Amino acid sequence: MIPTNASGLPPHRAKLTWGYSTDRGTRRELNEDSLLAHDPIFAVADGMGGHEAGEVASGICVQVLGGHPLVASRGRRLAAHELEQIIDDADAGIREATESRAGTTLSGVVVVEEGNTLGWLVFNVGDSRTYRLNSAGLQQISVDHSEVQELVDMGRITKQEALVHPRRHVVTRALGTGPKAVPDLTLLPVQNGDRILICSDGLTGEVDHEQIHRIMTELRHPQDAADSLVQAALRAGGRDNITAVVVEASD
Ligand code: MG
Repeated sequence: MIPTNASGLPPHRAKLTWGYSTDRGTRRELNEDSLLAHDPIFAVADGMGGHEAGEVASGICVQVLGGHPLVASRGRRLAAHELEQIIDDADAGIREATESRAGTTLSGVVVVEEGNTLGWLVFNVGDSRTYRLNSAGLQQISVDHSEVQELVDMGRITKQEALVHPRRHVVTRALGTGPKAVPDLTLLPVQNGDRILICSDGLTGEVDHEQIHRIMTELRHPQDAADSLVQAALRAGGRDNITAVVVEASD
């Protein structure tokens, strides 16, 4: 975990704005993606399992996160181990409801107070993604838990080849099914002007990094950016469900 530093925004000065958009796409019958966009938690879950089960899994996941007593009582003072507990509870809730036959990815951020500054506590299980845009550019913060990411890490295929690989949709960690998944957690300072993008693979499978960067930079309001990202994925083919949540911090 990366500690926040003194350059994070102080909580009383930070203003969050956000927007979100989701679409079934052009080929899928159902939208099995779910999202949560409410200070302090922003998340995207991409359900899998077919026959509506994926929709149930991702839906339960964001419901447990958004309605959890720890979120209500702790708010922005949520600690990393408490977030792990909440994600555990989401995992258990999905297993109970679907008898472990459906799973979901989960990626996103919790805005947390760390001393006198704010942090983005980034969490990830699976291949939905969390990015940060700042003056240094657009950076993918989460690391995919997927077969193709493992092949990229081993140097067997390039990132470009991963995009068209036949097993590109196979995740190696998920909630609600398979072995119990441990989320990756990363803590970053919240800085003035930061924009966070959380999205499902229906966006990143259709729209390249440069175009996502351009849309995230050019559209002034987070809602316009989220809408524009989903429209770009639809124009590119929309072969999967597409979800984008954009959060901006300013002082
Ligand atoms: Mg997907």
